[in-house]
Amino acid sequence: MLEGLIPRLRVGTVYDIDLDLLQDKGYKGIITDLDNTLVGAKDPLANPKLEAWLEEVKRRGFKLVIVSNNNEHRVAHFATPLDIQYVHAARKPALKAFHKALRLMELKPEETIVVGDQMLTDVLGGNRMGMFTILVQPIAIQDEGWTTRINRRIERIVTARLRRTGKWHEED
Ligand SMILES: [Mg+2]
Repeated sequence: MLEGLIPRLRVGTVYDIDLDLLQDKGYKGIITDLDNTLVGAKDPLANPKLEAWLEEVKRRGFKLVIVSNNNEHRVAHFATPLDIQYVHAARKPALKAFHKALRLMELKPEETIVVGDQMLTDVLGGNRMGMFTILVQPIAIQDEGWTTRINRRIERIVTARLRRTGKWHEED
């Protein structure tokens, strides 16, 4: 039952994602979380490094949608200047917002990657959709709200259990 929480891949940051490899494997779209995945939860806008990465993602022909559980004000303020489509108040791990993102990209789940910093929302939802899930390290853990803090506690318990049963492989 905990298997649904295991990401297919773990990386430090979005910049560590091997876009060449994903392209070679035929992935065409990226659904990405916002808070603590692209920027810290209290950073209102993208920084130049992130802007360059997002440009590179688009230049390669990947379709991109931000799917965030945060409110419209936060997500629109961040995504609109970047000209990126978004789904706000997504209620991940519920699947409705993932389906909406697929419709926006006109892609199938098996063509799509999900990137996020939380196992209980991003990874669980993406895995349930049959998408390729990538877990990043949260950018600014000190800025997280209380629901995320609870999720982090559950994440620690889950990873400890997965480690004991040999299902959570340590990073190289
Ligand atoms: Mg997040």
